[in-house]
Amino acid sequence: MNDAPEQRPRLKIADALDLAPAPERAQVTLPDHVGHYIGGSLVPGRDEDRFDNVDPATEAVLNTVATANEAEVGRAVKAARKAADGVWGQMSGADRGKYLYRIARRIQEKGRELAILETRDNGKPIRETRDFDVPTAAAHFFYYAGWADKLDYVMPGRRGRPVGVCGQVIPWNFPLLMAAWKLAPALAAGNTCVLKPAESTPLTAWALAEILQEVELPPGVVNIVNGAGATGAAIVGHEDVDKVAFTGSTPVGRIIMRQIAGSKKRATMELGGKGAHVVFADAPLDQAVEGVINGIFFNQGHVCCAGSRLIVEESIADAFVERLKLRIASLRIGDPMDKNTDIGAINSKEQLGTVNSYIEIARQEGATLWQGCANEPPEKGYWVKPTLLTGVSQTNRVVREEIFGPVLAVVTFRTPEEAVKKANDSEFGLSAGVWSGNEARLFEIAHALNAGVVWANGYNLFDPASPFGGIRHSGFGREGGIHGLYPYLRLEA
Ligand code: NAP
Ligand code: MG
Repeated sequence: MNDAPEQRPRLKIADALDLAPAPERAQVTLPDHVGHYIGGSLVPGRDEDRFDNVDPATEAVLNTVATANEAEVGRAVKAARKAADGVWGQMSGADRGKYLYRIARRIQEKGRELAILETRDNGKPIRETRDFDVPTAAAHFFYYAGWADKLDYVMPGRRGRPVGVCGQVIPWNFPLLMAAWKLAPALAAGNTCVLKPAESTPLTAWALAEILQEVELPPGVVNIVNGAGATGAAIVGHEDVDKVAFTGSTPVGRIIMRQIAGSKKRATMELGGKGAHVVFADAPLDQAVEGVINGIFFNQGHVCCAGSRLIVEESIADAFVERLKLRIASLRIGDPMDKNTDIGAINSKEQLGTVNSYIEIARQEGATLWQGCANEPPEKGYWVKPTLLTGVSQTNRVVREEIFGPVLAVVTFRTPEEAVKKANDSEFGLSAGVWSGNEARLFEIAHALNAGVVWANGYNLFDPASPFGGIRHSGFGREGGIHGLYPYLRLEA
């Protein structure tokens, strides 16, 4: 049913959404302090260099976190090298696979605990961590477990051999899932790892370290060190790291590429994005509304592949934006531990500042700003209501730069050529989406969009078997699928 919004019975949003609180009630004890996992041991790290980890939904301090210095990173790399040359490097693929299956199963078994830790740490709704982050992380380990004994078949006539020690640095938006994306293919391929979580989200990596101990993964195969950018720089710059895998912002990706230039290190870079949704007038509009909303407001827009630009056919633009507003006005913002919450907290005070500064830039650029949801956010915590920007053009900063928050910029088009031109007019190239009821058009436009990932009549859909990654300033290399194995393998004749 694609009747225009004004013809529909008006939903009484306030009545419909007067829901009783539905808090997640499971009790999980948070660690007081997060240290490092080096050579199979959980160690507290040095006393003198600790920082606070803040709950973005309440601003309360959850715990302290250790900062690894060069010496501690060096110990982690040394442990990884020993395991690469020894137990892990010599183990059969089938046996390595068994460890990966065990990790996957243990993630499932501890799913509720992991979801709670992730939500407290990151601020994203418990529904997302429970239904997406944790199951998808487990699925990655299951998927790559299946590859561990088949490395000689990843490319005809070539034998897959591990690269060695991998230095992996990840962001705060999907902490457990990003760890899984990094570790699962690396381990399946026989490598060992030194991983650094983002400083604002160390909790699920710490819980994962406990899981690795529980499944008796040999010491040194995975090492996890905490800290800020300097710790990341110490990992990627360490002379005994063979491969760098980075997920994060484009500016930091550039710094790392400069740092490792001229070295023998391999690298993959999963960087920022400014994903475009192209919505044609013949699209299934209710479905497109859901897809556009999921594309930008999922995880508060803290998604590298977020569909942060809506490029909608002019003839339906006003009606489509009205539908979006109607639907957005039903979204509940607030306590991420409540199962009814749709929009959680912005991950940190810094990121809140960044998002708000872009909202201010939008004002200065003359955009028409609309913010909505079903309720007011709590007093404490870091919140931004879902935001629509209309009256913007291709040259505006809010259309060109990654905001990494719940802000959707809307532009219009008249012809398919114009739509493709606008969608591709970006320094990034991570993701794009196209919505149409015409299948030939879907294929034609999907091919014309310059992005590593293109969804047709859908958005933000993930599968471990499907490669993910960017082009242009969104980076290079793929994660997921057989493509995600190649960066972790030397293919020998
Ligand atoms: P970020 O500031 O680039 O940080 C990413 C990671 O790098 C963090 O662990 C960070 O530590 C560390 N780091 C900072 N400076 C470093 C340096 N000089 N050398 C080595 N490591 C360093 O990004 P973020 O704000 O955490 O994450 C958001 C960004 O990630 C967005 O741009 C988003 O698009 C991108 N992202 C991309 C993908 C993808 O697959 N393409 C997926 C998710 C996110 P600290 O946390 O301590 O600063
Ligand atoms: Mg945190």
